[in-house]
Amino acid sequence: MPFEYAPAPESRSIVDIKASYGLFIDGEFVDGHGKSFKTISPSTEEVLAEVAEADEADVDAAVKAARKAYDKVWSKLPGRERAKYLYRIARIIQERSRELAVLESIDNGKPIKESRDVDIPIVAAHFFYYAGWADKLEYAGRGTDPQPLGVAGQIIPWNFPLLMLAWKIAPALACGNTVVLKPAETTPLTALLFAEICQQADLPPGVVNIITGAGGTGQALVAHRGIDKVAFTGSTEVGKAIARTVAGTDKKVTLELGGKAANIVFDDAPLDQAVEGIVTGIFFNQGHVCCAGSRLLVQESVAEELLARLKRRMSTLRVGDPLDKNTDIGAINSAEQLARIRELSAIGEAEGAGRWSPECELPTTGFWFPPTLFTDVTQAHRIAREEIFGPVLSVLTFRTPSEAVEKANNTPYGLSAGVWTEKGSRILSMANQLRAGVVWANTFNKFDPTSPFGGFKESGYGREGGRHGLEAYLK
Ligand code: NAP
Ligand code: MG
Repeated sequence: MPFEYAPAPESRSIVDIKASYGLFIDGEFVDGHGKSFKTISPSTEEVLAEVAEADEADVDAAVKAARKAYDKVWSKLPGRERAKYLYRIARIIQERSRELAVLESIDNGKPIKESRDVDIPIVAAHFFYYAGWADKLEYAGRGTDPQPLGVAGQIIPWNFPLLMLAWKIAPALACGNTVVLKPAETTPLTALLFAEICQQADLPPGVVNIITGAGGTGQALVAHRGIDKVAFTGSTEVGKAIARTVAGTDKKVTLELGGKAANIVFDDAPLDQAVEGIVTGIFFNQGHVCCAGSRLLVQESVAEELLARLKRRMSTLRVGDPLDKNTDIGAINSAEQLARIRELSAIGEAEGAGRWSPECELPTTGFWFPPTLFTDVTQAHRIAREEIFGPVLSVLTFRTPSEAVEKANNTPYGLSAGVWTEKGSRILSMANQLRAGVVWANTFNKFDPTSPFGGFKESGYGREGGRHGLEAYLK
């Protein structure tokens, strides 16, 4: 059993949450025409704020503001001037990082040590990185005078609210596009704080517009005739619907969708390091990670020993208050997501897999799920095929490298994979055979703005990050 830690909560007083928020259109907060909805803290179910739900008229106003800003200001600015705004935004994000991290953890439920040490630093890094590109676009490999597309409609999910915003907005602005972005219904608050940061940075009105709402708002944005580009991160199901909506138009599309990554441990791997990587792979961000290592493939000869060490390690994970600096696993983002995790876990048991969780006391209010692993999983089990998007690991075994490759690739997805072995040659050989956009070797869930990220097959198309990420926003 882990020894007791005294509570070490981060103070909420650094962030000022308003009772209600409007839409950020043309540089100002305006009342929407639609209804409003509530965003809650998933760890306490406390209502945090009322947020405006953008209807079609609001979407239209935001797209028009973005078009005007594109035509009159942003596309006319030299790259070095756009870069200055992006640098300024990056600096303000760093200055206000504590506020952003606390707000993200409150609205999303993720542990403060992750929002503070992972999400927000990478958000700032993305703005710095693409600021650097803004005046060097002729070296991006898209011709000597690359041109922006125009207005981008961007839709993001709730698992990394501010990070997904950065992945979308930073490259778009660097290339000279203007944007209308819709955050997820359950996590709008950091996007709205980002809107304030745009005001603080004196970003010209209309370059960034933030419209809150649910799926319907996203649908109206995708279908709007005034946008030139759709950038979407979310589920494969909605991604397919978006692809159908834009078919036959000249809108460019990038889709970052789901995943069911294999994390493959060979018998020569350093097992304790692999255990850490497995834990990071599936329990980071409560497993609400598109590239999570949700399928552990372990070589049969070391399976027993690895599982014993993994269980011991899982017993030390602390589940609880997202604002406590000792917390490893925070709250599940919503009641709907918790229901889905419970349902798929029950199906795993019903289909014959062995379920195990360490003993852990869950808070009585809010949405919680213990770190869980399933053994004796086969390829046919639904928990081995479907994205659970929660802290649930399916364990499968293999005997030969070719069996590992076959099992790893036997999925409709292809976003990421992990390989644990001592042999460099095996790492390269596996990486060549795995049909996944990112292959991590002896590590997992490492993100960097200079590295492209994206999927094969039903994990989507297009790349975000790095020089490749510029292609999505240039003609
Ligand atoms: P989702 O239901 O597809 O939602 C994603 C976003 O699309 C949200 O803002 C959502 O709005 C909006 N939306 C819903 N229906 C829409 C429609 N018909 N037209 C346009 N927009 C619509 O996905 P989610 O459950 O929030 O997120 C989890 C999924 O995202 C997982 O499958 C995960 O793998 C994937 N993901 C992928 C990546 C990646 O980079 N590949 C990264 C993170 C997450 P509301 O939320 O307000 O309803
Ligand atoms: Mg919320």
